Amino acid sequence: MSVPFLDVRIKNPDVRSRIDRALGDLITDASYIGGKEVQLFSESFGAYCGGGKCVTLANGTDALILALKALGIGPGDEVITVPFTFIATTEAITHAGASIRFVDVNPKTYTMDVEELKRAVTSRTKAIIPVHLFGQPADMDPILDIAKERKLYVVEDAAQAHGAEYKGRRVGTLGDIACFSFYPTKNLGAMGDGGAVVSHSEEILAKVARLADHGRADRYFHTLEGFNSRLDALQAAVLRIKLERLDAMNERRRQIAETYNKALINQSFITPPAVASYAKHVFHLYCVESSHRDQLQAYLQDRKIGCGVYYPIPLHLQPAYARLGLKRGGFPVSESLSERILALPMFPDMTDDDVRTVCEALRAFSPAVLS
Ligand SMILES: *Cc1c(COP(=O)(O)O)cnc(C)c1O
Repeated sequence: MSVPFLDVRIKNPDVRSRIDRALGDLITDASYIGGKEVQLFSESFGAYCGGGKCVTLANGTDALILALKALGIGPGDEVITVPFTFIATTEAITHAGASIRFVDVNPKTYTMDVEELKRAVTSRTKAIIPVHLFGQPADMDPILDIAKERKLYVVEDAAQAHGAEYKGRRVGTLGDIACFSFYPTKNLGAMGDGGAVVSHSEEILAKVARLADHGRADRYFHTLEGFNSRLDALQAAVLRIKLERLDAMNERRRQIAETYNKALINQSFITPPAVASYAKHVFHLYCVESSHRDQLQAYLQDRKIGCGVYYPIPLHLQPAYARLGLKRGGFPVSESLSERILALPMFPDMTDDDVRTVCEALRAFSPAVLS
């Protein structure tokens, strides 16, 4: 039996019929941009994320760019983040006009290493972007302490962590502003692109909203040059309906993770992901580590079990960042993870049979002895 890595089709008949109806209504009303659906979703998503307010946007990359710009970050400023993330995190720093400063990740949690962060702050540093990678929050308290002491902004990259918790509080309202993506594969996914920022600060959100809508204060009165970055009404309707089931979906992901963990108890060649004591992990991805990663990947592929490497090349070694002049060896944890990590099938609609098939394969894996 084959098991896909991911399946984003809508399997729940109730959700499907509600989405069909909502889209039908929007087509009838021809309200494609803005309007009630966008307002409703933005209110419910902000409330969901620890009672913050939300501004919806065209995608998660824009959320990061506009968040930095709204905080006044630009040329001459430095923003600290990790090299073990998706490139959107650092693209945003560059597009805001600031420069990237990397700190390595913690080898257990794969999120920002706090000791490294302390050493990396300079007089030009203006903000820190911790990434809640694979669904696990970064260790926010020490990061917030450092930020407070050095007067830095904290921008959460929560694109992979809708509903994850840090010490019982949902991500999204832990720092100054948080950035979300609703790309179809994310824990809360649209039927196309989508994004949002969440914050407790009305002032910062008003700036993001203005930047996202051509710097408009009024229809044809522009106080600055902005962008066109809107979430359309069709996506907002889909997201509003799917948000109601996000907690149930995340619970199912956590249950699948628990089952994988059990299958790995006596498997000495594969290490399951560590969950920090402070974290409620929502398993956007379930990534194992193995010294025999490539063999494990080929083995699973032979058995028609989907898997993938996130991320095969840490950002500091990407050709796009050759200009930074960073060498292999600079961020050893990220480098080693990129050679050891493998993501297993993980999506809420996986059947128990799917999960069992993966578990049986994991138990039976043993690397060929190479002479
Ligand atoms: C998906 C993702 C983004 C970007 O979101 P888009 O909606 O694809 O632009 C940013 N950061 C991380 C960590 C992501 O996984």
